[in-house]
Amino acid sequence: MSVDRPEGVHPLARLPEEWELVMARAGQPKYRARQVFRWLHAHGTLTPEAMSDLPRPLRARLAEQDLALDAEVSTVRRAPDGTRKLLLRLPGDALVECVMIPMTKLPEQSDDADLAAVPEDDDDDDGPTRVTVCLSTQHGCAMGCVFCASGRAGLLRGLSAAEIVEQVRVARAHLEPGEQLRNLVLMGMGEPLHHYDETARALRVLTHPDGMDLSLRRITVSTVGLVPGIDKLGRDFGGKVGLAVSLHAPTDELRTRIVPMNARHGLAEIMAALRRYPLPRRRRITLEYTLMQDVNDAAEHARALIDLVRGLRVKINLIPMNPVPGADFGGSSPERVLAFQAALRRAGLSCFVRVRRGDAVEGACGQLALGAEAGTLVRSIGRKPVNSKG
Ligand code: SAH
Repeated sequence: MSVDRPEGVHPLARLPEEWELVMARAGQPKYRARQVFRWLHAHGTLTPEAMSDLPRPLRARLAEQDLALDAEVSTVRRAPDGTRKLLLRLPGDALVECVMIPMTKLPEQSDDADLAAVPEDDDDDDGPTRVTVCLSTQHGCAMGCVFCASGRAGLLRGLSAAEIVEQVRVARAHLEPGEQLRNLVLMGMGEPLHHYDETARALRVLTHPDGMDLSLRRITVSTVGLVPGIDKLGRDFGGKVGLAVSLHAPTDELRTRIVPMNARHGLAEIMAALRRYPLPRRRRITLEYTLMQDVNDAAEHARALIDLVRGLRVKINLIPMNPVPGADFGGSSPERVLAFQAALRRAGLSCFVRVRRGDAVEGACGQLALGAEAGTLVRSIGRKPVNSKG
């Protein structure tokens, strides 16, 4: 993963072993690398002047380059449920969103019901409020799922590892008293496995013990089902990072209409990849299933889904589709959602309905950055209606 020319990597995305090279070239001892990395990521300090255990000449040298990213938080919107949406303006005027979701327990909810793939939590009620942060990996998206606003204008550009890390830094700076950043979900804009190298680098920086030291087990990468990326993620992180797959349909015929990428990697191929994912004991893969009324929410779909996942260690998260402009179909009614869930549960599957969070700030799934760039992002789906036959 580390590179020979770390000077070409943004300082915020350099790993300690890369800082060692940079330090060696500056005539500094190796251990300075860890000191700098710690300042940047454990303390969150980007001003070399404040890095008090570094010699002055080194601080001066660090001050010659920009340690901070040219990013600005342009909006913070807060929903009554505590969900906050941060809009980051990145270089090149890319507007990217990240959503902070405090995991307050409502009486009727289990931990699992809270948010799709958030990994199992140890349960103590008196501790700090745990915040899950939903990150974006690309500006726009190339996958073209018909019910998702993020990809309407296609892929504008991938975010650098530094820009992915920056979202976490900004979120940390927006924690409120009593809150603790706990889980990360890569479920914002973009397809993380279509942007593998920068995503993987960001994960390594964020989980490094000398930095923020976030736990891989509390990070979930959500993918449309890019099989080579799933395999790579499993190899590179030994299966420790949580995996969520956006399934949405139990047959290739229907899935290809909803998730065009299915034409490239079909369900059999995806299921085979999930079977070989090196999942630790007692962990499960999350399958996300966005429910669209009269599209994928009938009893026959539930039956086909049960057959499809037989023998796999999965939990299924049902997400009633959030409305997006221009779509000629919408989310399933609460009755149909519950009926679908009941069918899966009768078959012994672990299945939760994702509670809607953040729609008041347009921070719900599939709505990211839509409002901000409505003029450029919204165009009609331009495909035959997904609920037409054949
Ligand atoms: N590209 C990745 C991650 C980003 S999307 C993926 O496909 O998994 C994160 C999740 O939000 C996916 O499960 C996606 O299908 C879902 N989603 C997108 N638009 C939605 C909408 N309008 N309503 C509900 N869920 C949506």
